[in-house]
Amino acid sequence: MASSVKLEPLDSGATPRFAGLATFMRLPVARPDEVDVAVLGAPFDGGVTNRPGARHGPRELRNQSSLMRRHHHVGGRSPYDVARVGDCGDVPVHPLDLMESMRLIEAYYRAVREAGATPLTAGGDHLISLPILRGLSTGEPVGLIQFDAHSDTYDEFFGQKVNHGTPFRRAIEEGLVDPKRMVQIGLRGSIGDPANFDFAKAAGVRTIFIEEFSDRGVDDVMDEALAIVGGAPVYVTFDIDALDPAFAPGTGTPEIGGLTTREAQAMIRRLSGLSIVGADLVEVAPPFDPSGLTALTGATLMFELLCVIADSVAARAAG
Ligand code: MN
Ligand code: MN
Repeated sequence: MASSVKLEPLDSGATPRFAGLATFMRLPVARPDEVDVAVLGAPFDGGVTNRPGARHGPRELRNQSSLMRRHHHVGGRSPYDVARVGDCGDVPVHPLDLMESMRLIEAYYRAVREAGATPLTAGGDHLISLPILRGLSTGEPVGLIQFDAHSDTYDEFFGQKVNHGTPFRRAIEEGLVDPKRMVQIGLRGSIGDPANFDFAKAAGVRTIFIEEFSDRGVDDVMDEALAIVGGAPVYVTFDIDALDPAFAPGTGTPEIGGLTTREAQAMIRRLSGLSIVGADLVEVAPPFDPSGLTALTGATLMFELLCVIADSVAARAAG
């Protein structure tokens, strides 16, 4: 933390929400070494296997995040009262070179970690989580809570091992994530091969399909998820396609029968108290989102994530 001066979103009484630079949550632009929580964009979708567009996610998430106000309505607390939060811009990527983008993203997140900031990232496709986890790694595997319609633990697509269907298999293989402290919530949809989930199961990942979630409900599922990840460092990744496409149609690989936005909000709120090392919200694809609803939904879930990350940062600062 470089300064004790508070960072605040623009006052909508002084600057209307449709005016000014479209930063995340209308926050000041800042460097990672000036903040506790760095809100970032990763405008990259070179890992997509089917419908691209998530490279445009950060810009539209920033636009829709202008509707976020400073206080969470539950309890009236504000993340900006307990943590310094800024928009640290977009991560450098190479739109024509996937492996170079992986290196650029990893290097950037290593610098963010060394600056002492906890990153909250707007994707981008789900592959970005892999170089983020690499850059944040301290050598010890972290826990992972993944909200997603898909497992993303497949081995390869088109003979390639680095794409948005494989990041968490690579992360487990590389020792970045402890599979016994990993929970996936919301999986569903037709699959190409019944063996798709064998790797995650054999590795010890807890996979909660939407049918089990529907039977048990938010609190029972989250009680179990929190017990699995425990108090050690954990990364949180939210693929917008975890939501039902009725709430979030603007994404590359929609699957019907998903989470409601209220269920997602309730689950994210349960993450308060965890030791969160970073989080991302991925796969918002504005070309499939003409109303802007998916980006608004994503921006609102980013605010929910920001609130629990700020709690985590404040708890670490208090020792
Ligand atoms: Mn997905
Ligand atoms: Mn995913």
